[in-house]
Amino acid sequence: MSILDFLFPRRCVGCGESGVYFCSGCRGLAKSHFPQICPVCERGSIDGLKHKWCYKSYTPEGLIVMWKYEGAPRKLIAQIKYEYVSDLASELGEELAGFLKGYERSSLGCPLWAKDKFLVVPIPLHWKRKNWRGFNHTEEVARVLGSNMGWQVENLLERARPTKTQVGLKGKERRKNIQGVFGLSPGALAFRDFEILLFDDVWTTGSTVLEATRVLKEAGFRRVWCLTLAR
Ligand SMILES: [Zn+2]
Ligand SMILES: [Zn+2]
Repeated sequence: MSILDFLFPRRCVGCGESGVYFCSGCRGLAKSHFPQICPVCERGSIDGLKHKWCYKSYTPEGLIVMWKYEGAPRKLIAQIKYEYVSDLASELGEELAGFLKGYERSSLGCPLWAKDKFLVVPIPLHWKRKNWRGFNHTEEVARVLGSNMGWQVENLLERARPTKTQVGLKGKERRKNIQGVFGLSPGALAFRDFEILLFDDVWTTGSTVLEATRVLKEAGFRRVWCLTLAR
């Protein structure tokens, strides 16, 4: 037990048990996001693959979501967003890696998650309130995921302009509000041959992740997959 654990004891967000942020009992109770959905029409789709009939240029090849956005997972995500703690990023990143590894084993139809050449790209901080320490929690979780899976993690995107909050905006307004918010980071084009795994914490209407996908694909990235903790 470190001095930090003594000063700021970890407690499970679900039941209050001390020692971890998310105890194994509460992990077992967290609802999986099932079925997975097509990132274009948001209807059920095997393994989160984009439906063949949903073809639209500059859209992702697929989307995988770990949890339903409710209960303890929702509290965990709020906690890491607003009061960043690196131990919590580790717990979330490891949970996500375990989820993907399990997925790879159980999913017969989709070899996607078995691929070893993913380049993980975290969504940069944008309309979300930047937390007081200036960390991008999404990037921190992405780094833990990457090191667990043996995948490279790169900030290929940056925020091109600030946005108004997305809270309270509906689908169309959200898409309009987010347009043009991301740009490519210097040097990003050198990674164009990689298979991209775009990572964000939550899929709400998808407008953020879809806009980021559009920017990458317009720049010549061929395949972009999306992954979020919850929806
Ligand atoms: Zn618990
Ligand atoms: Zn579809």
